[in-house]
Amino acid sequence: MILMSCVKPIHKKRIGIIPLGSVDLTYVKIVQDSLSSVYGLNVEILKTMDLPRWAFINEKSPRYRADSLLKYLNKSSPDYDHVIGVTTSDISFTKYKDKDKKYIKEPKWKYRDFGIFGLGMRPGRASVISSYRLMKGVPAEQGIRRIALIAVHEAGHNLGLPHCPDTQCLMTDAMESIRTIDQCSGTLCNSCRDKLRW
Ligand SMILES: [Zn+2]
Ligand SMILES: [Zn+2]
Repeated sequence: MILMSCVKPIHKKRIGIIPLGSVDLTYVKIVQDSLSSVYGLNVEILKTMDLPRWAFINEKSPRYRADSLLKYLNKSSPDYDHVIGVTTSDISFTKYKDKDKKYIKEPKWKYRDFGIFGLGMRPGRASVISSYRLMKGVPAEQGIRRIALIAVHEAGHNLGLPHCPDTQCLMTDAMESIRTIDQCSGTLCNSCRDKLRW
């Protein structure tokens, strides 16, 4: 309780959305609306930043490393408690078997550079989401719902929420499939809401 009293209450936090490279403003506004409606926070759209060349990788296909993008975003916009980067480029990271990140999950060819929807550390200051895999082969409306939900999910990790055992809750582990997110209720369960309300 003593520790918690030092932390800024959630309703006083400021979140900044940073478009990375050329991003359709529609996506950025959706992220803004969904974050402010679910978390009741002040969410602002910040200046576009270039995708850093040093985060680029072309191992399987052209992608940007999500872990590198988090480092890049972490250094930006110090006035904001959290920043969320939005990109249309494909993003990836390495999945490890262990917490110390010594051993890559098997099969290594798959997980060394694994394409993802979004990434946010728990807790953390920065998160990043990509529309690349979310809009593919689905009606625009469905893709847009996915962008909104992934943004709320990754920001939820930054705000301290772990994965939720309730598969209807949007903090459920996507388990490498966007269908998990398509099938969830689109809102946080009561238990996750309680965790945020300290
Ligand atoms: Zn997650
Ligand atoms: Zn939950």
